[in-house]
Amino acid sequence: MQAAAVSVWMLAMVAGLCWARWAVATLATASVLTSGALQLSHLGGPAGWVGVIAVGVTPWLLASQRSRYERRVKRLQARESVKLSQLQEHGLLRLQRENEERESTITQITTLYHVTKATARALHVQELFAFSLELVPKLLDVKGLRLIDLVHQVDDSPLTLRAHRVSDGRLLRDEINAILPIERAVIQQVARAGAASTSEATALEGSLPTGLTRLAWAPLWNEQRPIGVVIADDLPPDQADTLSIVANQLSLQLTRVHLYEAIEAMAITDTLTGLLVRRYFLELAAEELQRSARHGLPCTVIMTDLDFFKAKNDTYGHLVGDVVLREVAQLVHKNLRGIDLIARYGGEEFVLLLVETGPDQAAPIAERLRQLMEVHQIRAYDETLSQTVSLGIAGFPEDGRTLEDLIARADEALYAAKHAGRNRVIRWTPSVHSPPSTVHGA
Ligand code: GH3
Ligand code: MG
Ligand code: MG
Repeated sequence: MQAAAVSVWMLAMVAGLCWARWAVATLATASVLTSGALQLSHLGGPAGWVGVIAVGVTPWLLASQRSRYERRVKRLQARESVKLSQLQEHGLLRLQRENEERESTITQITTLYHVTKATARALHVQELFAFSLELVPKLLDVKGLRLIDLVHQVDDSPLTLRAHRVSDGRLLRDEINAILPIERAVIQQVARAGAASTSEATALEGSLPTGLTRLAWAPLWNEQRPIGVVIADDLPPDQADTLSIVANQLSLQLTRVHLYEAIEAMAITDTLTGLLVRRYFLELAAEELQRSARHGLPCTVIMTDLDFFKAKNDTYGHLVGDVVLREVAQLVHKNLRGIDLIARYGGEEFVLLLVETGPDQAAPIAERLRQLMEVHQIRAYDETLSQTVSLGIAGFPEDGRTLEDLIARADEALYAAKHAGRNRVIRWTPSVHSPPSTVHGA
């Protein structure tokens, strides 16, 4: 009986330790109590009963302790898993947000790259606008684009360039350049914005031109000073940031264009030929004409143009064409006096002012230039070429008294020389067109 009670007690201990089943532990304790009471009570007194209770309670204490631990572990695990899922959720959200930010930065950098690449070649405002028109349809879903240059004035208004979208998605330049009331309103807003330093896009709603629901504009800045405005017709609101990037880049490019134009205005010689530029020639020639008028001296204007030069370019390429152009300029320059004026008037057209020389003296000089050119061999890269020129003459004071008249008449004579077959010199007469009066020629 005692051995059985001990076995059951041990079983209860194992139950308490390993399985932690309340029922097993309680039943085992009960059996121990029963058998223990029979066996141990005769040991006598409270000590016996304390022993019995201790024997019975031990597996129960073990079991309850274990189950308490298990409950605590479960609670901790539950808390952990909540924390873990919160962390995961938070981490995922953060990653997603970081990813979106990164994507938007990449889009901005790409946009910036495209705008810079497309517009950095422009040397004049018109070119800047033309290059922008190629690019903007790829970046913005707009019905039209306007660029206002606040620095250039045309008829007392800022220069305004406009384009509208056509059915194939391209932006085509509009020819009407007079400023519209809505554009004036935008300019006033730019002026009111004061010395802001950003090119943020602003929406303009309300009284808009028919067919448009929304205009967005962004000012172009140079050192806190507004230098222009870009206006996008019907720009979707979610593309305002892209317009701002475009405007920021256009600000830099427009600043550069203004600088280039300022330098160009200061330049007095043409980079390709080394001759005077047209603008400077006109200044000097006007002074020279006044001097001639004051002193009663003659002078002569000669206009010169290369014959069939386009064909040279088409056959040999522009680089060879440039060499030919430079060579003609040098030959003419070398064969004139230092006091005479010679300038590149247009692409392949030169203008000469022979000082203190009447048209009768100028005609043989022009003819000598024509002949020199006719026989001159030009080495251009691997080619050996020849180039003829046509020349038109107008003399002061008999053929015209103002510089404009003299240039126009020398040009008419040149035109006649071209019509007469080229490679010749013609002096202007009132009947120069019909039939042309050839002075000299091939
Ligand atoms: P024409 O005898 O009637 O004058 O015929 P053309 O072919 O010379 O006249 P056109 O006006 O048709 O062509 C002028 C050409 O000059 C066209 C243009 O490509 C070329 N040209 C103008 N400026 C330059 C330049 O700086 N470099 C080069 N290579 N070509 C130029
Ligand atoms: Mg020509
Ligand atoms: Mg020409």
